[in-house]
Amino acid sequence: MKVIEKYNDSLHNPYWKYQLGPEAYEVKDTPQRVEEIKKVLRTDGRFEFITAQTFPERLIAKLHPYHDYIFNTSQSLKDDKEEFYPDLFPGEGAHLKKKADSPLWGGIWCTDAVTPIKKKTYEVARASAETALTGAKLLREGKEQAVYALCRPSGHHAGPRVFGGYCYFNNAATAAEYLLSSGKVAIVDIDYHHGNGTQEFFDEIKSVFTSSIHGNPEFEYPYFWGYSEEKGKGQAIGTNHNEPLPAGTQLKAYSQALERILHQIQSFSPSYLIISAGFDTHETDPIGSFKLKTDDYTQIGRQFKSLGLPTLICQEGGYNLNVIGECVKNFLSGFLDQS
Ligand SMILES: [Zn+2]
Repeated sequence: MKVIEKYNDSLHNPYWKYQLGPEAYEVKDTPQRVEEIKKVLRTDGRFEFITAQTFPERLIAKLHPYHDYIFNTSQSLKDDKEEFYPDLFPGEGAHLKKKADSPLWGGIWCTDAVTPIKKKTYEVARASAETALTGAKLLREGKEQAVYALCRPSGHHAGPRVFGGYCYFNNAATAAEYLLSSGKVAIVDIDYHHGNGTQEFFDEIKSVFTSSIHGNPEFEYPYFWGYSEEKGKGQAIGTNHNEPLPAGTQLKAYSQALERILHQIQSFSPSYLIISAGFDTHETDPIGSFKLKTDDYTQIGRQFKSLGLPTLICQEGGYNLNVIGECVKNFLSGFLDQS
């Protein structure tokens, strides 16, 4: 299986996030996550690493109205030590100037104070989206049946209005938009957190089926999205499916939820499948509360493979450095099994 990466991931390395009280917390989304995944996959002869291609800026800019804001803010910072956090979120009803030429406007474009911009953030976020686009291109050319895009930063919380939740550009949504010209797309988000950005991108687009299995948003980020009654809007009603699950969820209940989604995807009959693959569902993850075991991901991969669709797997979350490499390898192995 081809593993797509881009060289400059380590340049984006935020120090702090501001959440849940007066203290700043160390960011769990470190470049070491990518290194751990690479280390494990490189010792397994079934994976071939390739470098992501460069794509025109417009493929990313046309989807993300905050593209220029992220670019300009990255450019405005003096050095790699600086990081900028939005600190004023105007909310609805404010006199909204949708400007992008100063870091100060960040509260219009960003949901939170956990997603800082550093000098290299634009470059790295763009490379992450290009990683997904390279995978989508391989699928569209019919060259691969399943490819893994080793994206970082993650993308699934970045939406059509705002970015946030460690995410800058939505990698899966950018790839889906690219693939749409040659057929319908289904997206399944298996990160522990609901893929709110991805859902919002395609809420009213009936040629994309979006779905997510995640910790119940009544007690987990992103709180305001991810409930089972969210089914899509307008002409696209019926093309979104959420499976919020309780803390402590193990493989059996998890697989049943996934089966319900896969059943709907079969009815939807897409040409392509995109998986937003987060591994913060692992029992030892420092953020999640599910109880999936390292070996469980092989079966989950096999379930996806049973659809028989050209599949792009985009890396999202997963924060236990000791297990993330094995979890990814096992998940991808499910696509490689002959059985
Ligand atoms: Zn997550």
